[in-house]
Amino acid sequence: MKVRTRVAPSPTGDPHVGTAYVALINYCLARKHGGEFILRIEDTDRARSTPASEIAILDSLHWLGLSWDEGPDIGGPHGPYRQSERSAIYQEYMQRLLSEGHAFKCFCTQERLEEMRIAQRAAHQPSRYDGVCLTYSPEEVARREAAGEPYVVRLKVPNEGICVVEDSRRGPIEFEWKAVDMQVLMKSDGLPTYHLANVVDDHLMEITHVVRGEEWVSSAPKHLLLYRYFGWEPPKFTHLPLLRNPDKSKLSKRKNPTGILFYRRMGYLPEALLNFLGLLANSATEGDEVMSLQEMTARFDLEHVSVGGPVFDVSKLDWLNGRYLREVLDLRGFMERAGSWGFAPDRLERIASLAQPRVERLSDLGPLVAFLFSGRLAISAEALRSGKLDDAALREALTFALREVDTLPEFTAVALDTMFKGIAEETGRKVRDLARPFYVAITGSPTSLPLYDSMELLGRDLVRERLRGALDVLEKAS
Ligand code: GLU
Repeated sequence: MKVRTRVAPSPTGDPHVGTAYVALINYCLARKHGGEFILRIEDTDRARSTPASEIAILDSLHWLGLSWDEGPDIGGPHGPYRQSERSAIYQEYMQRLLSEGHAFKCFCTQERLEEMRIAQRAAHQPSRYDGVCLTYSPEEVARREAAGEPYVVRLKVPNEGICVVEDSRRGPIEFEWKAVDMQVLMKSDGLPTYHLANVVDDHLMEITHVVRGEEWVSSAPKHLLLYRYFGWEPPKFTHLPLLRNPDKSKLSKRKNPTGILFYRRMGYLPEALLNFLGLLANSATEGDEVMSLQEMTARFDLEHVSVGGPVFDVSKLDWLNGRYLREVLDLRGFMERAGSWGFAPDRLERIASLAQPRVERLSDLGPLVAFLFSGRLAISAEALRSGKLDDAALREALTFALREVDTLPEFTAVALDTMFKGIAEETGRKVRDLARPFYVAITGSPTSLPLYDSMELLGRDLVRERLRGALDVLEKAS
């Protein structure tokens, strides 16, 4: 049997280091056994999925040096590889579940479901659909449908017994069926949810090993039930522990940068980041820790994949990256990498066009643009406080912006302009007064290159980091 693995990201935000981690492990597993590695885009959440996020995910994984045998960008024999293009396939399987009595139409309104949840919470019961629509006769279902009542399709889940999920690294994990929700498989707009699409696709794409984050382990019983209802053999499951911050909390962008693009903008080399992720994955690394993708693949063993939450320790990444920069690259290589990192001609041209109107001597350029070639900035609370806003207002504005920065679909100067006007309105301040501390936070100085263009040039992740840095500085100074 040919090993076939996949990574199945949802394009709902900036590419996450966790996605690269899962992709790397699946890549190595497939390559090690002469198998195939597939990239599938799980965009069933139409409200949150964006083409820009999909492009960024593919770009980042390519940048890291990963490649796949089948995917939305290159096609393949099991396509399409984007779930939004596979609706007809899911419809067919949905009908099969319905006609064989493994799924049912549910007409409950949001209000009724909310009341049910409140009652369950009050009674300390697990949140689970109570099965009211399961009691309807076929005539009743037909009548409601004919009357145009909207409905979703739910999975029938046993009320008794135990489901055992066999996880290759954790062994058997038991779930009581009565605690497993009657999952919505198809929404009222006829589109599938992740669960149905995921199982149908893994089967049709002949995936033999599903290696994914542990946040999906509680979904595994529903998935196994679907495999059983369809009469398909399930793939082998491995649920990977989540990456952790050094304090062992779950790696999240509130505490630490998690975007691949952040590490790229900070000047980490892709092979160093990939090598670092490979070390996190392999609990049994011996010898030199500097390893190419080929070496990581050759040494890969699913049995050695860490089950304790691996710690994303940036100081280790710094050390490794430093070794690549100093020892692995020759001078020419170093220059090339520096060039492609921050000195690409089109970027330089944009920077020059912003700087030209603001200099008297060419030697003004260094201090003026240095912030665009830097990581975190050393800024002072005094500089942040030098404008009209007091500490509470500064904190409010920075926190507001930090949240907004994550919701902008496109991180462009135009979108940022609109965002700041919105913040000014919400907080009842003038854009001019607001802008000053942002200049300090982002560029290190109250006067610099235009703020929104600078933010676009730095990118969302570095901007997030600098805003967070400014909040930290204020906190420490208060
Ligand atoms: N689409 C899911 C995610 O974004 C993938 C879950 C899976 O691998 O089954 O993580």
